[in-house]
Amino acid sequence: MNKRIYERPLLRKVVEGIPNKFGSLKRLRPISTIDNVEIDSLIEEYGSPVFVLSEKTIRDTYKNAYRAFSTRYPKVQFAWSYKTNYLDAVCRIFHQEGAWAEVVSGFEYEKAIDNNIPGNKIIFNGPDKSEEDLVKAINNKSLIHIDHFDELYMILSLMDQLKERPQVAIRVNMDTGIIPQWDRFGFNYENGEAWNAINRILSSKKMDFIGLHVHIGTYITISKPYAVAIEKLAALANKTYNRFQKSIGYIDVGGGFASQNTLQGAYMPATDTTPSFDDYAHAITTAMTAADFPNNETPMLILETGRALIDDAGWLAGTIMANKRLADGRRSMVIDAGVNLMFTSFWYDYEIYPVHESSYQSEPTTIYGPLCMNIDIVRKNIDFPMLNKGDHFVIKRVGAYTMTQWMQFITYRPNIVLIDQNEKVHLIRKQENKEVFRRQELVPDYLQN
Ligand SMILES: *Cc1c(COP(=O)(O)O)cnc(C)c1O
Repeated sequence: MNKRIYERPLLRKVVEGIPNKFGSLKRLRPISTIDNVEIDSLIEEYGSPVFVLSEKTIRDTYKNAYRAFSTRYPKVQFAWSYKTNYLDAVCRIFHQEGAWAEVVSGFEYEKAIDNNIPGNKIIFNGPDKSEEDLVKAINNKSLIHIDHFDELYMILSLMDQLKERPQVAIRVNMDTGIIPQWDRFGFNYENGEAWNAINRILSSKKMDFIGLHVHIGTYITISKPYAVAIEKLAALANKTYNRFQKSIGYIDVGGGFASQNTLQGAYMPATDTTPSFDDYAHAITTAMTAADFPNNETPMLILETGRALIDDAGWLAGTIMANKRLADGRRSMVIDAGVNLMFTSFWYDYEIYPVHESSYQSEPTTIYGPLCMNIDIVRKNIDFPMLNKGDHFVIKRVGAYTMTQWMQFITYRPNIVLIDQNEKVHLIRKQENKEVFRRQELVPDYLQN
């Protein structure tokens, strides 16, 4: 047994926070390992801060999600949402598990091809597809989810010069009860635009109309809107069949499942409120089986879940830079990772833990990042133990939208490591250095000296 640490007696003014509606906060237990790897040793070897991904958690989460849907519906396909985390190592783990790729730009499309995904297993979403992107996607028989009429016309204008028939679906937006309604992507259902798009696609006779897509929003904490969306898509599928005798191959319900990160201002912690994969799967597959699809066919169900599949697998370990008192006496702490790495801390109350037991006292604390920017706040208010400069911390659930939305502001982006299933550590993205910037920047001749 480890000897308990000695803490010298000390008198210190503690600005006590009032208990919140759940009573006083519990003391935070330290987290010192990730998949049995010491966080201290990760920081020592890979620097501070460092992002850490758990391959075991990624695979376990994926398997759980896939089980929830595939046990309830006969044809289920996941497509990994690249923008959620497009590190090649991460994408390849999902692809090994059986996920296709879901991309929203030419850059992501190229990444999917480089990750050896066959063209016909790449779903190409988003409002920003260039002519060059579309030619590639058509030639590779990728699943093009048309976002607007200008994209539809661009595809039609390419038809004379290409041999392949484009494989297209449309993205549909609709009122599902979710506010705000995401009506800026795709064709609207209620005003008839979606039906108009289908008519144009099928009467052109130049494309294969293969599916219907919807992505109603993100961090959707109730499953009912998915059922509403499926009903409306089924109605479109029937209308299409009645007019053109064509049945669609799949219904793609997009992403949007909430993760276990708590939103700022939420009444309860997300770990208590976020629906499980089984909850979502129950609502979605019930709607799919109840819907009356043309010809009694069973379309494939595609899911583009991002956040909920990867958030738990990501960690950010770092170091405390300083403790400070604010003007009103409140305690604050500066850490070496801020909103440059966790853009997402603008809306999540991230869980932050000490790596070692260092003090049994805690105090309401504001945690700031290292940037010279007033909005660089990682946690506005957390009851946090009195750590010292140089002590390590670790932040939980930073797998989604951090390593893609991070910004290179003031400082370099750090190393990212993956702990494999045998608890071996691999560097999967190198820390940036000045060479990265030298390579990108050009100094005009007259400024050389
Ligand atoms: C971002 C996005 C996803 C993933 O969304 P999550 O909320 O992370 O599950 C899926 N599909 C499309 C079209 C997206 O834009």
